Amino acid sequence: MRYPKLRELKEAITALIKGPYTSKFPKVPATVPEHFRGTPTYVPDECVGCGSCAQVCPAGAIEIVDEYREDEGKMVRRIERNWGNCIFCSQCYEYCITNKGIELDPDFEKSCFDMADAINTHDKELLFCEHCSTPITAKDHIKWIGKKLGELSFANPTLTVYKYGELKLVEEGTGDNPRKNLERDNFIRVLCPNCRAAYILSDEWGTS
Ligand code: SF4
Ligand code: SF4
Repeated sequence: MRYPKLRELKEAITALIKGPYTSKFPKVPATVPEHFRGTPTYVPDECVGCGSCAQVCPAGAIEIVDEYREDEGKMVRRIERNWGNCIFCSQCYEYCITNKGIELDPDFEKSCFDMADAINTHDKELLFCEHCSTPITAKDHIKWIGKKLGELSFANPTLTVYKYGELKLVEEGTGDNPRKNLERDNFIRVLCPNCRAAYILSDEWGTS
């Protein structure tokens, strides 16, 4: 017969007196350490829909989709998180451009029976190019850039026109014929980067 070593005997007696080292989760809620990186949770009002979080997510848990909503009759940017793919690295939280779009929730228990319950979304309204109707970015993103740049934003015609539109000083334009050449009056319009480049080329060289 083999006898337990003294050290093992001591461990067994300590465990009998103090109880097991492991916690009784999920029966008893787990306590998390102070700097625990919890579940990244979106704050839709603070998110501007830029998509940076999706770009830095190493697990591909965040998807940015610009889609047409038939029932609403408009195009929106859908920001979708799938906790089933999340590895809780908190890169999205670290790189959120507003620093407030994502919070870390200490509740890490995300198990569910239906994988659809692991998906959660919010939408942002899109801003379109007034010439070719291509989505540029979310309107809240443009507003955030304008605010961040302050008076410097007046150096950018798209930001200027958008700001004036917000103040109801100009009317929101609609997409016209993208094949039509961009004229000088197109300078002060909301244009996507491609149309802006085409305008500058046509203004400088007479052709885009
Ligand atoms: S915590 Fe990491 S894996 Fe999870 S959504 Fe954010 S970036 Fe992606
Ligand atoms: S504002 Fe923050 S949370 Fe919203 S899309 Fe950009 S990086 Fe993601």
